[in-house]
Amino acid sequence: MVWLLSVRGADMARISYRRRFALLRAHEGCCAYCKEVMPFRDTVVDHILPQHLRVNRSAWRELLRRYNLGDDFSLDDVENLLPVHQACNSLKGGRVFDPARAHFFLEIARAKAPHVRREEDRISSDLKADRLLAKLATGLETGLLPVGAVQALIQHPKMPPAEEHDTYDPIIVTFGLAVEDLIGRADLPDSVPLEYPHLCDWLEEDLKSRLSVALSCTMFVTEESARNGETLSVRVALVRPDLEQLRTLEGSWWEILEIAYFSEIYDEPGDRVGFAPAGLSGHM
Ligand SMILES: [Zn+2]
Repeated sequence: MVWLLSVRGADMARISYRRRFALLRAHEGCCAYCKEVMPFRDTVVDHILPQHLRVNRSAWRELLRRYNLGDDFSLDDVENLLPVHQACNSLKGGRVFDPARAHFFLEIARAKAPHVRREEDRISSDLKADRLLAKLATGLETGLLPVGAVQALIQHPKMPPAEEHDTYDPIIVTFGLAVEDLIGRADLPDSVPLEYPHLCDWLEEDLKSRLSVALSCTMFVTEESARNGETLSVRVALVRPDLEQLRTLEGSWWEILEIAYFSEIYDEPGDRVGFAPAGLSGHM
């Protein structure tokens, strides 16, 4: 099974690709600490006031007072975030800037914040855009996609118009998990059968019921699940879904492995293959 997201550090896992990208654009492609031009694949997001400060409530209040910051100051807000080199970030480590230095960088972040938010909006707020950026970043990070090819695409004076997708072309979402990751999870009910095939049957029902709750669109399973003895993946077609609703699955054992149009996976447009067969339309 191919896991599409490669996450190099905890910081990257928390910050969406969309945000990382928007921060880099807003800072004119430069590291906020050393001011050098920096490629996206080297970019990490630094919290000016580090996240470990959040642990203790009273110390946090004291710090806000000492740094002359309002009670509404949030560590996760773009006004506390800077795009920096991984190396520059490692130099800083978890150290806390003195108030003067912190304010110097907070001022820079604050000045760029509207630009960051504009860039985020421009990239669009849907989950798919973030997944695509994740794939692109992974391609660049692993070297499978040469930087030159991407630049050529971006700078091409006559970009072909984005392919118009039939709105009836369903979205295929592939969900997956590694069975051994489930063992020992506190949220796995005791009654669940642990032999692989039975566990897979149970998990497929679990996915269906989670999706029925999370999504309001028509959905159906397009093919038999893939079972290799260690992992399980299930493809589900969603008709005009609101992909934001999939966020409710975050924190569960299901991972989204791929999002694509029906016609990209099955060659035929979804509306020609008679989707929504009896018994599967509406909720699964
Ligand atoms: Zn730097």
